[in-house]
Amino acid sequence: MDTSPIIHKTADDWRVEPNLVDYEAECRSFSWDAIGRELTGLPSGVVNIAWHAVDRHAVDGAGERIAFRFLAADTPGRPVSYAQLRTQTNRFCNALRALGVGKADRLFILSGRIPELYIGLLGALKNGTVVCPLFSAFGPEPIATRVNLGTGTVLLTTDALYARKIAKWRDRMPSLKHVLLVAEDGGTTSEPGTLDVASLLRSASDLCEITPTTAEDIALLHFTSGTTGTPKGAVHVHGAVATHWATGKYALDLHATDIYWCTADPGWVTGTSYGTIAPLLHGVTSVVDQEEFDAERWYGILRNERVSVWYTAPTAIRMLMKAGADTAKRYPLTQLRFIASVGEPLNPEAVWWGKEVLGLPIHDNWWQTETGGIMIANTPAFDIKPGSMGRPLPGIEAAIVRHREDGGVEVINEPNMQGELALKRGWPSMFRGYLNNEERYRKCFVGDWYLTGDLAERDADGYYWFVGRADDVIKSAGHLIGPFEVESALMEHPAVAEAGVIGMPDPIIGERVKAFVSLNQGFEPTEALRMELLAHARTRLGAAVAPKEIAFQEQLPRTRSGKIMRRLLKARELGLPEGDTSTLEGGT
Ligand code: ATP
Ligand code: MG
Repeated sequence: MDTSPIIHKTADDWRVEPNLVDYEAECRSFSWDAIGRELTGLPSGVVNIAWHAVDRHAVDGAGERIAFRFLAADTPGRPVSYAQLRTQTNRFCNALRALGVGKADRLFILSGRIPELYIGLLGALKNGTVVCPLFSAFGPEPIATRVNLGTGTVLLTTDALYARKIAKWRDRMPSLKHVLLVAEDGGTTSEPGTLDVASLLRSASDLCEITPTTAEDIALLHFTSGTTGTPKGAVHVHGAVATHWATGKYALDLHATDIYWCTADPGWVTGTSYGTIAPLLHGVTSVVDQEEFDAERWYGILRNERVSVWYTAPTAIRMLMKAGADTAKRYPLTQLRFIASVGEPLNPEAVWWGKEVLGLPIHDNWWQTETGGIMIANTPAFDIKPGSMGRPLPGIEAAIVRHREDGGVEVINEPNMQGELALKRGWPSMFRGYLNNEERYRKCFVGDWYLTGDLAERDADGYYWFVGRADDVIKSAGHLIGPFEVESALMEHPAVAEAGVIGMPDPIIGERVKAFVSLNQGFEPTEALRMELLAHARTRLGAAVAPKEIAFQEQLPRTRSGKIMRRLLKARELGLPEGDTSTLEGGT
């Protein structure tokens, strides 16, 4: 495998002229006001995510274009045009109005990736109603906790999910006034105490004036992934639409001619910002698959749907790598032109794998539930340094900061120094609060800086390198060790599919590095392999940083958004309470 550090880009790499060609010039000339001026069409002062995402295309004469193609196992794809989406979201908005649901209300959505999820989300935004999409796999407890924390007044779900997860627990969610049900068989429902969505939509008018929301009106609630602790509810506003638009343009290179697939569920912020809003803003056709990951299915979708831009997560890439290059070769992806990934560090190995096996490098980018949109990215405009998250997007000012004893922070200007990743406050999609936790929100800001809780370095060329979450960093014999560096080194070994690294308390050196490793197909968890991996890590990292112990595990605990839960590896190892496991994949 080629391990040269940079993937140089040339004009031949692009099949369409990228949106961003001169990174430095764009950063210099960029202003959020100018982006605001591009998002025209509404009366002055009115900003509404759903209007820009959906209705504007009808005004622009692009209503016949396909907005979504909904895929499910064993059924033909279901196309929905922008004009149809407009009608359906108008109807949903009117249905809410008929129920007396307004701006102060909050709609929680609990469903698989079915059309009604998207119709409900966008229709409610038109009504000024705040929306909170949840993972459909959540059990009753995490659902109730979130609905109560967000004072949900309306719940949109399906008849089957209602019967399994809500009916018996409904009185534990006293703020809920209405429950709207979609019949999973496509018919109608008549569950007592609920309303049937199909009937509501049928009887609602398809004409609707949006509620005039402003940039500062709350639009969305998103819970964080719960990787480091109890998920926090981040509050987002309609003005975020400017970031969704700009980042879709720069970081995902969306063109109106694209067929785009974001594999994230809207229960995770990525599936809303980039699985719903950003692609619609750019008038692209989005593929939405209701099924879960399956290597053959995913390759089949990329090929058959002629996907041109694909946004996915490192865990999916690693699973495709695990499935082997031979599987990939059976699916020539001639239309694919841009791949991006988010959610976790993307190990350099995976970036090279993309280039070699799929013919395209993978563009890692970084952001958080709190930032509402992509902040740092590998864009089409510059070379990729595999293992780096890229550079701050135009309009985003990032820095590495050091904490001072007086409680302030100072920017570290020298390159290659570790510190906390900070963002200059004021980008439009910045969260405006944590639900019921004003103090924690306030603590995220020091002066002009929003502190991300992630440790990183910036190199002399302005590329950012993820070191680890402040909570996960290991302090061993005077060294600060980021788990990502150790995990990446382990994943370079052909036997290793995934690795999770934690610090184990040690009376002498403070913490000792321990790695949990899952293996690729064809490798057995033998003592000989363990010794080989320990030696491999020592050669790559040096004795001070290399793990002292390696344990094999068939699967590492992950969040539903695909992040390794190191805190759980640690709790289990030390016999400590597991804490909040509501977002654990496979849990309920
Ligand atoms: P919680 O805040 O509840 O612990 P979480 O931080 O995982 O969960 P998200 O907001 O979904 O919740 O994830 C954002 C975090 O994911 C970032 O702060 C960072 O730690 C990690 N992350 C996202 N993208 C990348 C990336 N490209 N490289 C490295 N880490 C990333
Ligand atoms: Mg977080």
